[in-house]
Amino acid sequence: ITLALSLLKTGQKVLFCENIYGGTFRYAKKIMENIGIKYELRSDLESLKSLSSDVGAIYIETPSNPLLNITDIKKIVALAHANNAIVIADNTFMPLFQSPLALGVDVELHSATKFIGGHGDALGGVVCTNDKALGAKIGSLKSTLGIALAPFDSYLMLRGLKTMKLRFDAQIANTKKILEFLKSHEAIQKLYFAGGASEHERAVHEAQAGGCLGAVLSFEMSEKYCYKRFASLLELFDIASSLGGVESLICHPATMSHASYGEQLRAKIGIKDNLLRLAIGCEDGEDLIADLAKAFAKAKKS
Ligand SMILES: *Cc1c(COP(=O)(O)O)cnc(C)c1O
Repeated sequence: ITLALSLLKTGQKVLFCENIYGGTFRYAKKIMENIGIKYELRSDLESLKSLSSDVGAIYIETPSNPLLNITDIKKIVALAHANNAIVIADNTFMPLFQSPLALGVDVELHSATKFIGGHGDALGGVVCTNDKALGAKIGSLKSTLGIALAPFDSYLMLRGLKTMKLRFDAQIANTKKILEFLKSHEAIQKLYFAGGASEHERAVHEAQAGGCLGAVLSFEMSEKYCYKRFASLLELFDIASSLGGVESLICHPATMSHASYGEQLRAKIGIKDNLLRLAIGCEDGEDLIADLAKAFAKAKKS
């Protein structure tokens, strides 16, 4: 993320889609602000007709984190390129089935910490481009910043990559089962999943990602249930803010991944205090459902 955003110059502006990874927002707030690169979080990127001349990049995540909203990649590419801006897409949530570069994006990012490494034991990131000149520039910035990956971490990532398809398929299958289970559970007030927000988002996600569900779901819990108790009662889901690994995790965005947004911005974007995010792993799907069911039963307020 640091490397991709280093392509911008002081005085330029980045338009971010509204719910982005908390660390990206933190980077904007703590680093970009200091060096005079402007930014805005926008919920209306798809409907913009033109960009002001200071916009150097549009930065998107689709599905977004943690509300799994979908952005039309081709539409954003057309808008940016008509206005001399580049598009950066964080594709961490869809390492397979969606290829932003093939849809015209200039820079594609992955947190390799997630599905690529896949075991929650190494940190890394990937910056991809299919533009030679841009690639050379990114390579040079990488050396300058000194953010190359260490040999052992590189080894873990390459080893993880060999089973990524197997793991991702298993994770998607589990996520489908869990989604069905949650849909009919009275503890769930609102469910968030890729393509689930509207017919429009479903169609866009179908066109650009084959409708892939991925392995992250979020939900708001009913007031009849204590979400804190629920999260700590789970035995197969650790409380942690990562995702994409073989082990299932649960995260409370308001106090963990999106704490840096602050209360007001979270309220504006719709990240509520009773929102929980599940990152589904490769355990047996029925075991995961049984664990969720047991924790729901114990977390019901009397
Ligand atoms: C986790 C995550 C990142 C950052 O990843 P690290 O490798 O943990 O620094 C970036 N983008 C998204 C969408 C993520 O989920």
